[in-house]
Amino acid sequence: MAYSSINPSDGTILKTFEELTDRELETKLAVAATCFAAWRLKTYAERGVIVARAAALMREQAEALARTMTLEMGKRISEARGEVGFSADILDYYARNAERFLAPQKLHPAIGEAHMESSPIGVIFGVEPWNFPYYQLARVAGPHLMAGNVLMVKHAACVPQCAIAFEALWTEAGAPPGLYTNLLISHEQSDTVIDDPRIKGVALTGSVPAGRSIAARAGRNLKPSSMELGGSDAFIVLEDADLDHTVPWAVWGRMYNAGQTCCAAKRFIVVEPLADAFLERFGAALRVLKAGDPLDEATTLGPLSSEPALLQLLDQVGRAVSEGARLVMGGRRIDRPGCYMEPTILTGVEPTNPAFRDEFFGPVAMVFRVKDEDAAIALANDSDFGLGGSVFTRDIARGKRVASRVETGMMFVNNISWSDAELPFGGIKDSGFGRELGDMGIQEFVNKKLVRYTDVSAPA
Ligand code: NAP
Repeated sequence: MAYSSINPSDGTILKTFEELTDRELETKLAVAATCFAAWRLKTYAERGVIVARAAALMREQAEALARTMTLEMGKRISEARGEVGFSADILDYYARNAERFLAPQKLHPAIGEAHMESSPIGVIFGVEPWNFPYYQLARVAGPHLMAGNVLMVKHAACVPQCAIAFEALWTEAGAPPGLYTNLLISHEQSDTVIDDPRIKGVALTGSVPAGRSIAARAGRNLKPSSMELGGSDAFIVLEDADLDHTVPWAVWGRMYNAGQTCCAAKRFIVVEPLADAFLERFGAALRVLKAGDPLDEATTLGPLSSEPALLQLLDQVGRAVSEGARLVMGGRRIDRPGCYMEPTILTGVEPTNPAFRDEFFGPVAMVFRVKDEDAAIALANDSDFGLGGSVFTRDIARGKRVASRVETGMMFVNNISWSDAELPFGGIKDSGFGRELGDMGIQEFVNKKLVRYTDVSAPA
């Protein structure tokens, strides 16, 4: 069964779902296209009523939504509650600000007058990952629905209950049929959706292989796409960093969501004088994490999302070690039911080791020691990814200078890579292109149309 909800903390199969037939998919596409014809004509205020209502429902149903997420992909319950609240905030943010972001912009040509208008383009197809099952959906639903587009989403195969719950919010919020459609479909069906002329744009958040496949398909169809892909963010610790501040952020940055975050701190790059102290304190903080049921508030280490995810990570660590990396701690499956992995630190990962370029999607930290700031920046930039990154220093001006020299889509000084509704999120290189969130996130799938009005004589 392609869409299966399996509790990763004990392996119980919770529910399975059939994929849509091609005929059912066609019906849903037709309904979405019909919906767009009317939705595009609604005012921002009218759209905002529906989107804000969906946000309010998320808050009302927060406990049930969070529980479904925890059961389905293992996120610790406190993090799950936080994600539901944040998702509602994103919807509200666009309900409040879309009209301002998309207001006509006056231009200043040498002759006459002109402006840019922003108009919706049609049905947008989103493909989303399991690691933030509601937040990823809110990141596309908030902006694109408020812009006047309508949305069809293929969610990850392991979180069907979250996918269905999110769709239900829109129905309950009074959305017209077809405004937000969840699609339980195969990869092949996803290709046919991208090919369909009623689909006008494609947004993916996922892995690099998925990005290559889906961006190529969208490109072949000359459709705009946005790609939010993987990352291997550097966490740079300069010699003047305050370790009392830095180490808790290092733990949080690596271990939040059991390490399964695109913009998690994955490569810890520490300048020599602090390297030993950092490694010792970071390791000590990771050792006290307590594996347990993610529904239990006392648990500080949840499971990975699925058995295949755990096996892949164990294999990656094994290969890194066989190619010369040193295992400072962890590296094994935890001896209990469920998909738990020990917090793990690798050192001595040389550029010749395939792990050097890998994304470790779980509780595995690579720690590097470098001689100075320049070496830290050079190492940070020696990556195929370019999503986010952070730098820790007591000197904010120095932190900003370092941030400017790191080649990523986002940099954070004395803080980890993180997102807020009002700040653009996205990367460069293999981390993808386009931005979600903030003002930029709503501009991805709108027609920026020039209108010029001049009162000059026609050429003779
Ligand atoms: P994934 O395997 O690429 O899956 C993501 C989504 O893409 C799922 O819905 C998956 O469906 C679908 N998919 C994959 N290949 C496809 C294809 N050829 N055609 C159609 N759909 C396809 O990634 P994941 O393992 O779930 O998520 C982790 C990755 O996402 C990591 O690399 C992480 O860094 C990245 N990520 C990036 C961001 C960001 O904002 N930059 C945020 C979160 C996660 P199935 O489940 O049915 O295969």
